[in-house]
Amino acid sequence: MIIAGNLKTNHTRASTKDYIEILNKFMYVNSIKDKVYIFPPFTAIDNFITNVKVGIQNAYPTESGSFTGEIGFSQIEEFKIDTILIGHSERRHILGESNELIQEKFNFFKEKNFIIFYCIGEPLEIRKQGLDAVLEYIDNQLIGIDLNYENLIIAYEPVWAIGTGVSASVKEIKETHLALKEKFSKPLLYGGSVKPSSVKEILEIDEVDGVLIGTASWKIEDFNKILEISKEI
Ligand code: PEP
Repeated sequence: MIIAGNLKTNHTRASTKDYIEILNKFMYVNSIKDKVYIFPPFTAIDNFITNVKVGIQNAYPTESGSFTGEIGFSQIEEFKIDTILIGHSERRHILGESNELIQEKFNFFKEKNFIIFYCIGEPLEIRKQGLDAVLEYIDNQLIGIDLNYENLIIAYEPVWAIGTGVSASVKEIKETHLALKEKFSKPLLYGGSVKPSSVKEILEIDEVDGVLIGTASWKIEDFNKILEISKEI
């Protein structure tokens, strides 16, 4: 099982260090066998000594250069990070990232052999039109993405479920994942308001290979609870 936490714009350098230490200890003491990934904010990235895999939430597809406010490969390489989130809905919809830029990022970090968490998912108006519309929307997000790339992990994250407290239903997740798994054979995570109270029923869906968690990963107690629950599945 893959369990990933996206800290987004939360936690400081100091609190991330504590978070990772507590998490690492919890995983050791409880013999957690999941693959656990944490995506801290840029300023908190460090050479952590941990079994938790630390990834980057975003980067510009460049070695280095003049891209004010962005970081490139050379800044990431310094910390030996080889995992990145690409296509997250907040970058697509709040920060206005186009499919073209997302493809460029994908291809750049694929060349670097990164583990890529590629996020896909539809807004509410598309979901309201039914599964066919959802799949058509997602097909567009998959254009130019090499679905055979060996280090690819895909996260299905309906936009309307992200940060809203309302997860997609088990039925919606199951039918969407079933249909997506006909398009590619990569690990497929669900993301969108997963909480300690809902993670069991979501991880029990056969077509779910793990979860990408935002809000419920910010408090280490909640994230550890999720790991504890995942152990029973
Ligand atoms: C996310 O941002 O990837 C996410 C799933 O957020 P949340 O769990 O808060 O919905």
